Amino acid sequence: MESADNQRFNRRFMQAVVALGALALLYSLYRLASADFAIPLLLLALTAIHSKERFAAVRLAGKRRLPAPEALIFLAMLLFDGEAAILLSAVVALCLSLRTGKDGLSLLFNSAVTVVSTSLVVFVLRLNFGSISEVFANLSMTSVNAVCIAVLLHSAVRATIAAIGEAYKIKQPVWKIWGINYAWTALTCMAGACLATAALKLIELAGFENFVAMTAIVMVADFSFRSYRANDAFHAPDAKSAGRQKSEQKESEERFRSAFDYAAIGMALVSSEGRWLQVNRSLCDILGYTEDELLGSDFLIITHPDDLGTALSNIRNLIKGNVPTYQMEKRYIHKQGHEVWVNWSVSLARDTHTKSVHLIFQIQDITNRKLAEQQLHHDAFHDALTGLPNRALFMDHLKLAIARAKRNPEQMFAVLYLDLDRFKVINDSLGHMIGDQLLVAIARRLEACLRPGDTVARLGGDEFVVLIEDIKAENEAIYVAERVQKELRLPLTLSGREVFTTVSIGIAHSSPNYQHAEDILRDADTAMYRAKSAGKARHEIFDTAMHARAMNLLQLETDLRRAVEREEFFIQYQPIVDLDNFHLRGFEALVRWRHPERGFVSPIDFIPVAEETGLIVQIGEFVLRESCKQMQRWQKLFPSDPPLFISVNLSGRQFAQHDLINEVAYILNETKIDPHSLKLEITESVVMENIETATEMLRQLRALGVQLSIDDFGTGYSSLSYLHRFPIDTLKIDRSFVTAMSDNNENTEIVRTIVMLAQNLGMDVVAEGVETNEQLALLRKLGCENGQGYFFSKPVHTDGAEKIISDTYASQAQAFPVNPASSRKVLYVA
Ligand code: C2E
Ligand code: CA
Ligand code: CA
Repeated sequence: MESADNQRFNRRFMQAVVALGALALLYSLYRLASADFAIPLLLLALTAIHSKERFAAVRLAGKRRLPAPEALIFLAMLLFDGEAAILLSAVVALCLSLRTGKDGLSLLFNSAVTVVSTSLVVFVLRLNFGSISEVFANLSMTSVNAVCIAVLLHSAVRATIAAIGEAYKIKQPVWKIWGINYAWTALTCMAGACLATAALKLIELAGFENFVAMTAIVMVADFSFRSYRANDAFHAPDAKSAGRQKSEQKESEERFRSAFDYAAIGMALVSSEGRWLQVNRSLCDILGYTEDELLGSDFLIITHPDDLGTALSNIRNLIKGNVPTYQMEKRYIHKQGHEVWVNWSVSLARDTHTKSVHLIFQIQDITNRKLAEQQLHHDAFHDALTGLPNRALFMDHLKLAIARAKRNPEQMFAVLYLDLDRFKVINDSLGHMIGDQLLVAIARRLEACLRPGDTVARLGGDEFVVLIEDIKAENEAIYVAERVQKELRLPLTLSGREVFTTVSIGIAHSSPNYQHAEDILRDADTAMYRAKSAGKARHEIFDTAMHARAMNLLQLETDLRRAVEREEFFIQYQPIVDLDNFHLRGFEALVRWRHPERGFVSPIDFIPVAEETGLIVQIGEFVLRESCKQMQRWQKLFPSDPPLFISVNLSGRQFAQHDLINEVAYILNETKIDPHSLKLEITESVVMENIETATEMLRQLRALGVQLSIDDFGTGYSSLSYLHRFPIDTLKIDRSFVTAMSDNNENTEIVRTIVMLAQNLGMDVVAEGVETNEQLALLRKLGCENGQGYFFSKPVHTDGAEKIISDTYASQAQAFPVNPASSRKVLYVA
């Protein structure tokens, strides 16, 4: 609104000046019509226009142009009187305006300003001195006064008109603009007037024609000079293009200035010593400092100390001229103290005036990108649940440790491989949420009891590893393992529940033999397995024997796979005898492996491997099918009442099989055996590991008509309180109790308790490992119903078992020919 008003005023003002100028011009033309100085005046006009153009770039004192047009207009006034001067000024101003390419009104306005001011000068001079030519005919004080009046008036009028127009345009006070304009127009006018007066005297001396000739010579000389300069233009731009360049430079400087100030990225001009000289808003925003705080301070102060070295060496290279520009990602310290990641580009700028070297910084805030990258990187190398390093990061650290130990064998380290002993039980019984909480709590405890330089990582599941570096002696690792075990044994409260856990630890020490991180980790793992199988909640140190065992195990695994394909398994049968009357009750089927090279391999050695590899499922199916088939045949051959039963072992893995029920049902149907003649043996620990699902599984097996027996009873978790819940028919007293039994000792009491417990719960009992007459006598005394052991027979082949059946059948009593009073007597030997 305001600027529209200004524009309107400006236009009206310009139009008024133009009208005034036109009137003055018309009046002059009317007065000039009769004069006969057309040709000299035309020459003057041409010279004026030419001179204005030519000399515009010839700066006086580096500031103002040579006042040639003013001088010539003034000369016209002295020679041909006021009207000629007015006309000349109109023509010259118009021509010059045309060159600068202004629009119509401005063009006329510029001419009008000159015409009006010249007219006023003429008017005032005539008013004061009558005729102008007379005043200057003889140079005197009057002529000096006239010059002064003319100059002051001319410049005052021009400055005033210009100031009124400008002031409205750029909204500045009129007096200010007038001051600026007036000063220099007055100077130019004065110089012009003096030149004109000198020219007048020259003309008086030499005559007008000669003066014109001289002017022509000056013009020719000027032309030659210009041609010479044009040829030399490559080396030095001529005055006009220099002027244009200067104004272009100024414009470009201004453009640069505003681009600099408002750039979206941070920009700064920095001295070669590192002082901020000029900074833009974005930079202030990025760093959190105000412009005043930054200017004059040192950029190195707020550079992150870790990036200082690289930044300085980059700048040094840049200043040496080795590279034109440098770029790096580095950190600044924000005013509030946090890190700011930036993409920092730095290049050189030479100051043309002072010849000094400055640095131009371009700074782009990349903190968010960096944080995202850091997060991704962190996620790739850390366990999501516990936040501990993961396997990848641990392996990295381990590789570095191996490399360090290689350079300096003094630098020993050790790897601790940890596995929680009861994690599965806790996870299955208390749920995954508690399981997760337990893992997190363990992670925190591990961190707390290790030195800051050590690495603790989670490999997955309930397995953790610790890398202990800079150890002086091997027992340091043992000491750490003991501390960890002690820490982890303390109860944890998770979601209001108290949870206990223990950990088995395998330790592997650094040795020059280790080339790969995987090898030492594998050995620590082997030692951990050793700790598990040696009874859990303990630690074992890896040694070469363990390695040999591990290799052996690996070989066993391979061989076992082949054994399944090549059917290298067979079954032996061990009789189970009624201790009351020595009747044969049935057999336990025991699997055997005849290895092509190693010969006979004990199930104690291969069953755990088969468990771990899952091969037990196939092996177990074979045993179940074969022994059921066999028993069915024997029952047919030797019918008895009650019929003989077959006991078949089920491993934990088999018991956890989802389709176990279907498999058993299928085999019962296939072999046509009476389900009641099949007894499945499950160890106490397998049942106790997951009470809920085990109970359900036992119930379903029972529903098939199958009998169930708890194997190795008394060795595992104390299941006494749960026992009544399980649908169990038989308890098998573990061999260890029977073997260690003697009159009135603790083991005898245990056996007595188990027997009584079984009787109370309506179960029967089988004592395992009966080897001696004494044991037999004691067991009979304790009321133990059944026995199994070398005293009666070792496990025997099918025909051996068949012979036992037929022999006992043949005997009148259908019983093992045993006399309890007699000394030890092994009847059947495999
Ligand atoms: P188990 O179920 O406790 O089997 C009894 C083990 O004690 C058998 O060892 C047997 O030979 C041995 N034994 C029997 N009487 C005596 C004795 O008077 N003195 C001594 N010292 N030992 C006696 P075996 O056959 O070596 O079996 C070992 C273990 O392997 C078995 O322990 C059982 O847990 C497992 N096993 C054997 N066959 C199978 C099978 O077919 N499937 C599964 N899942 N496990 C099996
Ligand atoms: Ca058994
Ligand atoms: Ca057993």
